[in-house]
Amino acid sequence: MIDSILREFDIPKMYWRAVNRDDGVRYEVIDGQQRLRTIWEFRAGEFALARDTDPVNGFPCAGKTYDQLDLDVSTIFDAYPVDVVIVDDAVQNDEEDEVRDMFLRLQNGTTLKAQEKRNAMPGQMRDFVKELAQHKFFENCKFSNKRFTFDQVAAQAVCLEMAGGPASVRDADLNRMYNENVAFDGSGKVAKKVRRVLDYLLRAFPEKTPELERYNVITLYCLASTLLEKYVHAGTESALADWFIGFETERRAQEDLDEEKRDATLVEYRRLTSYSTDGEESIRGRLEYLEKRFFLACPDIPTIDVIRVFTPEQRLAIYRKDDGRCQIRTHCGGEKLGWADWHADHKVPHSKGGQTAVSNGQVACPTCNLIKNNTHPDLAEVAG
Ligand SMILES: [Zn+2]
Repeated sequence: MIDSILREFDIPKMYWRAVNRDDGVRYEVIDGQQRLRTIWEFRAGEFALARDTDPVNGFPCAGKTYDQLDLDVSTIFDAYPVDVVIVDDAVQNDEEDEVRDMFLRLQNGTTLKAQEKRNAMPGQMRDFVKELAQHKFFENCKFSNKRFTFDQVAAQAVCLEMAGGPASVRDADLNRMYNENVAFDGSGKVAKKVRRVLDYLLRAFPEKTPELERYNVITLYCLASTLLEKYVHAGTESALADWFIGFETERRAQEDLDEEKRDATLVEYRRLTSYSTDGEESIRGRLEYLEKRFFLACPDIPTIDVIRVFTPEQRLAIYRKDDGRCQIRTHCGGEKLGWADWHADHKVPHSKGGQTAVSNGQVACPTCNLIKNNTHPDLAEVAG
């Protein structure tokens, strides 16, 4: 690289982030750290040019350190202009988000075309993600579908769902997921769950919501996925949306305060949203913080009884209690069912917080049970 500079060739642009501090503006190097270090180290005499370096403008340079160079040559080095793109961290608008997003990708060592390339990878994972990217929820987010951002976030949601929680969802991870799931089952358990979570998020955010930035959507996905898995979530949509918008409003208001007046946990959260936002540690940190805040704000959401299936003892008790007759009777007349022909049904559905207890159990004929579950597909439960 020093050789390129002495011959006045172009070296790649650097990207710096301007950060306003009390003692003035400081710069963080987003891209170009290695180049900068090489320049400084050469200037400080820490290494010499290679022994096979050709002369520059007739002056021999091979094996020389900076101080050993002829003045004509060291002047070229001193006067060499370095191209630097400076990103102003203080500006907050759509364009800035685009730029910031681009630099985060650069920082993560990825290219802008990553999702475009994935969309060209054949396989059922690609097809499933493409289908998900059409989900109306994404249209209500702040980001647009430029450069296939919907596909990218949809792929990240699938990746997180498969991992069962926070995971690294950088381009390399998504590429691996596409490669390893060429035969992905688009109507399997994971696929159904991802659709249910996106449906839930659409019910929570039925209109354009500018707070839904890319890094927020990833963590909200994880939070909603947990809610659907472990909590009685029906009817919690507006509580989630109200809490989230309130949280974002508070967080943004904090940024106008003097540093010492800011909530330290929000400063840390802000840090996690600024760097490596697709890395596992950042996602885990953000999610843990959001979960803590959400369940403090909504402390009364009950968990689903972890046991979903009645024991043989409970089944017998329910059968005797109901005299072996279907209690739903939307299809049948409640005639007596044989021991092999009935389902133990949760009166209050399991997913609505109904306990797996004899008092909440009832005899159902298979047809009535099926009709009940189909009427509430979101509440579908394991037939017992
Ligand atoms: Zn029946």
